[in-house]
Amino acid sequence: MTSTTPPDGRASAHEQTATRSAAAPGFATRAVRTGHHRTPEGEHGEPIFTTSSFVFESAAEAAARFSGDQAGNIYSRFTNPTVSAFEERLASLEGGERCVATASGMSAILAVCMGLLEAGDHIVASRSLFGSTTLLFNKYLSRFGIATSYVPLGDPGAWDAAIRPETRLLFCETPSNPLTEMVDIRGLAEVAHRRGCLLAVDNCFCTPALQRPLELGADLVIHSATKYLDGQGRCVGGAVVGDRKLVGEGVFGVLRTAGPTMSPFNAWVFLKGLETLELRMLAHSRSAATLAEWLLAQPGIERVYYPGLSDHPQHHLVGSQQRTGGGIVAFDVRGGRDATWHLIDSTRLLSITANLGDVKTTIIHPATTTHGRLTPEERAAVGIGECLVRIAVGLEDIADIQSDLAPGLESLPRRVR
Ligand SMILES: *Cc1c(COP(=O)(O)O)cnc(C)c1O
Repeated sequence: MTSTTPPDGRASAHEQTATRSAAAPGFATRAVRTGHHRTPEGEHGEPIFTTSSFVFESAAEAAARFSGDQAGNIYSRFTNPTVSAFEERLASLEGGERCVATASGMSAILAVCMGLLEAGDHIVASRSLFGSTTLLFNKYLSRFGIATSYVPLGDPGAWDAAIRPETRLLFCETPSNPLTEMVDIRGLAEVAHRRGCLLAVDNCFCTPALQRPLELGADLVIHSATKYLDGQGRCVGGAVVGDRKLVGEGVFGVLRTAGPTMSPFNAWVFLKGLETLELRMLAHSRSAATLAEWLLAQPGIERVYYPGLSDHPQHHLVGSQQRTGGGIVAFDVRGGRDATWHLIDSTRLLSITANLGDVKTTIIHPATTTHGRLTPEERAAVGIGECLVRIAVGLEDIADIQSDLAPGLESLPRRVR
């Protein structure tokens, strides 16, 4: 800080202003304030710009915008002020220079691959991934000459060993969907950079309120905004955050040309979602921790997967790398597929749906839904069995969530102690 404080300890008004603008606002402040550039109308709430294109003063100005000599909006496939407000706010929360919003989480991953990879390149990815991500790599990127190898998420040595001369990208989710496995991002970033690769982290489960991968050395953060960034299950969207070159040029170039763009309305929903993100993530985490402990004590349950439990293999990363355990709990029930489906079907309050990150608690059978398009061998390799259930804990009273699960749990075969 360059301002000097007078001997009596009071700063002049001018110095106070300088000091105030020099100190970076905190996370909660940026979540509420960053990204909205008030228009001459003086609106307090962020406006939705429902316009497909933008008007120029002259043909010369149009030419200058298109050539890039003059900054400004041209067409909403490229930029839109509401979308830009969301991008600016999320970039600030993740600690990145640039954010590009996309139509979905999957198109965010596709835009990263199209923007930064080419035929002949190789990806090393964790085995534990969102089902559609694995499918995108195996079924589609492979057709364009990009191969992928899979490694156990939490084993840095395995990542190192799988890297080839043509490997460009390491890709992981931490915690993973649905088993909440984690990896030390700092350690993995070190491996990536030593071997000349980029590290992309899908930060869907934690969001920047709990974990900021760029600060830990990752090059790219990917989001399904559909989940916690929205937080109320309304819109599908995605985002990529990183530096000016990778995201501002590489990923943005694909978006501008290929067009998996976020709509202004969806951007507005996500922008408002970011305002309550930290409060919600802490509340989801509190309830999920309570539910995980409670499930552990149920005789019909074989195993509970939750980062906050002391028997989780990477439990030590909670409190250091990620602030809390997050809102997702998975568990194996005793008794096979029928018993597992029966438990799911016996709930009345919980929603049987694939989404997560909603204020409403959701319950799903990953083996036949979110991960149903994987081969049985692929599922077995990851550890997604027929008896696995995933719950994304919402913001209802935890006692009501427990009461809703209790009758189904009662009817399960009991664990032999
Ligand atoms: C849902 C999800 C995605 C895909 O996002 P969409 O918005 O559904 O396209 C990617 N990664 C993870 C971890 C997810 O949960």
